[in-house]
Amino acid sequence: MTDSTWQATACILCSENCGLEVKTSGRGITAVRGDAQHPHSQGYLCQKAARLDHYQSHTDRLDSPLRRRPDGSFERISWDTALREIAQKLKAIRDAHGGSAIAYYGGGGQGNHLGGVYGSSLRAALRTPYVYSALAQEKTGDFWVNGELFGRQTCHVTTGVADADYVIFLGTNPWQSHGFPRARKVLKALSSDPKRTMVVIDPRVTETAKLADVHLRVRPGTDAFLLAALLGVVAQEGLEARRFLDERTTGHDEVLAALREVPVEAFARRAGVPLEDVQRVARGLAAARAATVRADLGIQQSYHSTLNSYLEKLLFLVTGHFGRRGTNNLHTFLLPLIGHSPSPEESSKVPLTPVTKMRPIGKLYPPNVLPLEIDTDAPERVRAVIVDSANPLVSAADTRGYERAFERLELSVTIDVALSETAQRSQYVLPAASQFEKGEATFFSLGFPDNGFHFRRPLFTPLPGTLPEPEIYRRLLVELGALPDRFPALEAAARLQRRFPRSRAFGLALTAALKARPKWAPMAAVIVYATLGRALPKGTESAAVLWAASQAYAKKHAAAVRRAGIRDAGAGLGDALFERMLEGEHGITLSEHEQDDVWSLLRTEDHRIHLAIPSMLDELRALADEPLPNDAEFPLSLMAGERRAYNANTIYRDPAWRRVDPDGAARVHPDDAARLGLRDGDRVAVESRTGAVEATVEVNDGMLPGVLSLPHGYGLSHAGADGVRVQSGPRINELTAADHCDPLTKTPFHKTVPVRLRVI
Ligand code: SF4
Repeated sequence: MTDSTWQATACILCSENCGLEVKTSGRGITAVRGDAQHPHSQGYLCQKAARLDHYQSHTDRLDSPLRRRPDGSFERISWDTALREIAQKLKAIRDAHGGSAIAYYGGGGQGNHLGGVYGSSLRAALRTPYVYSALAQEKTGDFWVNGELFGRQTCHVTTGVADADYVIFLGTNPWQSHGFPRARKVLKALSSDPKRTMVVIDPRVTETAKLADVHLRVRPGTDAFLLAALLGVVAQEGLEARRFLDERTTGHDEVLAALREVPVEAFARRAGVPLEDVQRVARGLAAARAATVRADLGIQQSYHSTLNSYLEKLLFLVTGHFGRRGTNNLHTFLLPLIGHSPSPEESSKVPLTPVTKMRPIGKLYPPNVLPLEIDTDAPERVRAVIVDSANPLVSAADTRGYERAFERLELSVTIDVALSETAQRSQYVLPAASQFEKGEATFFSLGFPDNGFHFRRPLFTPLPGTLPEPEIYRRLLVELGALPDRFPALEAAARLQRRFPRSRAFGLALTAALKARPKWAPMAAVIVYATLGRALPKGTESAAVLWAASQAYAKKHAAAVRRAGIRDAGAGLGDALFERMLEGEHGITLSEHEQDDVWSLLRTEDHRIHLAIPSMLDELRALADEPLPNDAEFPLSLMAGERRAYNANTIYRDPAWRRVDPDGAARVHPDDAARLGLRDGDRVAVESRTGAVEATVEVNDGMLPGVLSLPHGYGLSHAGADGVRVQSGPRINELTAADHCDPLTKTPFHKTVPVRLRVI
């Protein structure tokens, strides 16, 4: 049935989650436009969102639980059978080997985070702390540095690009990757204003670099040298923000002493950047009224990943560009994406992984170590993996290593909307309702001083045969015997509270129930879903956990919530905030902070920024003695995972969504192409020590000589209308290695993979 009205929803393709309005027909999305009423995206959208029906409707959508046969084919089974068998196997593994034999991977994509919250209840019942996440192959170095500087790994830094007069983009191409609201509009405004300066640090001539006032074409893998050189100029020329450092930080004398030792000229040469450009940017940054640094995977997945994140933050901290409008700031989270994992000095009780003894960061474990935890004869090995809304067999380093490991598991379960590559290798596949078939939300509430949130109502009922993730977790917990099927008293209290919000009946009943049965407390999320969720309007049951989040957020940030126009009408500010979320179909402003609130978000005991991180300063000092990389066998450097106009993680499986670049071309510099006799459209094998992929050549003078790039999000196999599965484009993680990574965080060095090209 065609619906000619515009309905509010959001894009699920990147962390911006722009507000959208869509029209639907039957189970499909037929028209998409930006939602002008969305408080943060304000009608903005990019080309990717227009193709959303390729996510909603395609031949890989699942509509029945599947069980894998010994020959690798699948049989359809009922939900009851699937959940009963999975629960029995989980229980047997947990009881025989403990919760440490079970790992959980994922728990939410760019736009669906609610499922992961309910997954925490299952993990509690299984007694496993092991959450592996794609974030832990990207951002844990950043989180770790934040923890050291600001007191907690949850102290996440936001950027002030729209209001800054000096902006440094570091290893990021926001024209394609976004990363802040209305990115292209903001970039154009920045570029066209002669009073403002845009600096891009990137080896490639990207769309963003073309708009920049200054482009520093750093050699891949030498970011730490360039950042140290920039900071060296600041320290050696006495350009640091002395008053800010004295008032707001500790350890600055030690940091400045280390920076004064940096051999600026030699480091600039190593990075391939003219010394005068380094000096110009360092001086410009120090002199700016309000400067901000926006960094992304280009430095985080490169050599010295964690050190890069440290130096990036020193850039804005040493120059005092923090805690003011148009600079970098901290922000509040409605529901934190991550937690805080204490250091060994803070606590000896943090669970290390059973085999590799990896410590979590932000309570997340890195995908790089999971195959090593499974593919071993060690008795403490991981024997069961539950994957929710993730596709590690394509998106984590060393695809073949992951495939081998999955074959050794005693139990593998994938919860997904589609028959992903990970689902194809799993023993059970549980089909989830799509992100437009259930109430959903993202926890990317990253704004400061204003912060937003958008709970999306479903556009469609769940595809027959599928279930929303919260319901999957609830039923699994019932099958495990961890929770009852119904909670009559709590359900009655929830209904009462919905009718009489001032009664606070549900909160009181929940507190009493958890006090009477303390074992239920770690599973409170699913209990709230199973009770309050039933009392919410149809399709919004999954919002139940937001009620609890609203109570906590309103208590902590009451003044900022009230400033956002949310009024406690006698029912409590948390309840009022929750109601606003449910009603705010176009998204809401959750809080309006005052600028000085940023200092209350610091979590160090002395409320200062602890600038000196001894291990990072040691790594900085050691840079001067680092030998030049020299790999004669694999002489080219691959930047794996480039963001382009038509890639979006692995969420779009149907290759027909792409308007350009159907093969995910290998971009090669003209000199390298000429040396190998390559022209546009030729096919090559890209070979690394780990494996090889085939790719189509695109000769591109935006690359540096000796450097090539491949995009992420390709290499998925998709069934056409005839049922035949075809792989489109290169599966780049067949080239990457698990041990080519940062020693502290295990973040893979995807931007510097040694490769060679072979003409085929
Ligand atoms: S910027 Fe991100 S969220 Fe917005 S429309 Fe583009 S892909 Fe979607």
